[in-house]
Amino acid sequence: MLLLKRLLAWFQPDISRPLTQAWLAALWMSLLANWPLWEQLRSLSLGTGFLLAFAGMVTAATGAVLSLLAWPRLIKGVLVLLLLAGAALAYFIGTYGIVFDPSMVVNMVQTDARETRDLLSWRLLANLLVLGALPAWWLLRRPRAPHQAFRHRLGGNLAAFGLGLAAMVLLALSVFATLSSTMRNHKSIRYMVTPLNAVYSVGAVAARNLAGPKGPPAVIGADARLLPRAEGAKPPLLLLVVGETARAMNFSLNGYARPTNPELSRLPATQLFSLGDVTSCGTATAASLPCMFAPQGHSAFDADKPQENLLDVLQRAGLAVLWLDNQSGCKALCDRVPNDFTTQLPAGATPLPAGMCNGEECFDEALLHALDRRIAALDPERLRRGLVLVMHQMGSHGPAYFKRSPPDLKPFQPECRSNELQQCPREQVVNGYDNTLVTTDRLLSRAIAWLQTKQARFDAGMLYVSDHGESLGENGLYLHGMPYAIAPAEQTHVPMILWLPEDGALATSLQPGCLATLRDKPASHDNLFHTVMGWVGARADVYKPEWDLLAGCR
Ligand SMILES: [Zn+2]
Repeated sequence: MLLLKRLLAWFQPDISRPLTQAWLAALWMSLLANWPLWEQLRSLSLGTGFLLAFAGMVTAATGAVLSLLAWPRLIKGVLVLLLLAGAALAYFIGTYGIVFDPSMVVNMVQTDARETRDLLSWRLLANLLVLGALPAWWLLRRPRAPHQAFRHRLGGNLAAFGLGLAAMVLLALSVFATLSSTMRNHKSIRYMVTPLNAVYSVGAVAARNLAGPKGPPAVIGADARLLPRAEGAKPPLLLLVVGETARAMNFSLNGYARPTNPELSRLPATQLFSLGDVTSCGTATAASLPCMFAPQGHSAFDADKPQENLLDVLQRAGLAVLWLDNQSGCKALCDRVPNDFTTQLPAGATPLPAGMCNGEECFDEALLHALDRRIAALDPERLRRGLVLVMHQMGSHGPAYFKRSPPDLKPFQPECRSNELQQCPREQVVNGYDNTLVTTDRLLSRAIAWLQTKQARFDAGMLYVSDHGESLGENGLYLHGMPYAIAPAEQTHVPMILWLPEDGALATSLQPGCLATLRDKPASHDNLFHTVMGWVGARADVYKPEWDLLAGCR
């Protein structure tokens, strides 16, 4: 009964209450300050029912957002600002056909006084007066809000927010077919919804600015070039496999007691070199990847200063570059080079085998599918000089390790089948994790088999390195992402594996036996940029031979 009474009290049209004012303003702005939106929708002839539902959605959404701001000392100022902004927006949208998105906020901030003057007009003044100033004046004359306990007001505001959202969802569902097709075909409509467009856009720009300055990336290695090759020498093909969440200590190639590298271990020790002491640049993908592909190294790399990366430099030197992703994307590393997802097959490719993908993600072996076709689509002129093919694995990404190994590749049993790792016995967590490493082992070994088929055309080789490690319950820690300074070795020690066929041009150019000494030499992600540059015979001012792992063997 008490609840019902309270509910009714919220709906009492006491216009001194902030919540009432918020919803009245929402109704006013939705119906009147959106006149360009209603004109546009009317011209699309979608029917009166749809128009009414859409108007209800806009009102409900606006009311919901304003409900959160319905506090006595706040609401009037917010509403006056939004009423005036909405009135001006209505004029500009209706008159100039502009839409209000984040880039418009940036434009506005950069507009000078002269440009602003050019936009002023009597019609703007009329819009401002009728749609903005008039309701604002009325609002400012309302009496002070009656006192209400904080938690009651908070409860009321949250309830109004929830009701507004629920109403919007129900209305959207009632016209879903028309709504989805209209929003798809007329993408600009969402930016016409005043004043939510302004609230969203200003918020988005503010968030972006708070996140640090963004601009075009600074050019690095502007003088990138390729060293001349011997007459008749084959161009390099370097497969760079970027691993995910693989930790060095669980690789049997590095001395782990369980056979997590059954396939790679069979390759001759004269071709395969697993470096046993490699540290990562970060403890999370977003931190490690940009740093791995930068020339500065861990101590000098600044993620807030956008710059080009290894792939840009290789491409500028004249090589073909292809980033193939089986994860969530390349963190802007591949923005300026050819890139593809495993789920996007090139034209004419045979479909991925059944069970390879589940609609959401693919096993890493999908990276090997249709490779020849993907390469054939690259610039032939660049291919003649060489190719750097990057494969970005899903690897051992947790916590659902059990999803990362295919059913036929789970030698360690039983494995934890939950993503709440703390709920599983630790051995099961490790079993699930080690199964992902066996999966990576097979991927790398099959990748090498594929590279061997390219040796007639290319001087082929492979470099595998993981982005960071993983905690598997040591000291109660799971997953990764600890601040670097206090991160345990499990998270910062990563596997790095080189495969160079001993009869290849690169291997024969190195001092005999020298590569084997790398196995015990400390290395890090700092070496990656420079080692790749040296591997494919590229040079630029940013190249540091002392950080090139192979330079000491030349
Ligand atoms: Zn990662």
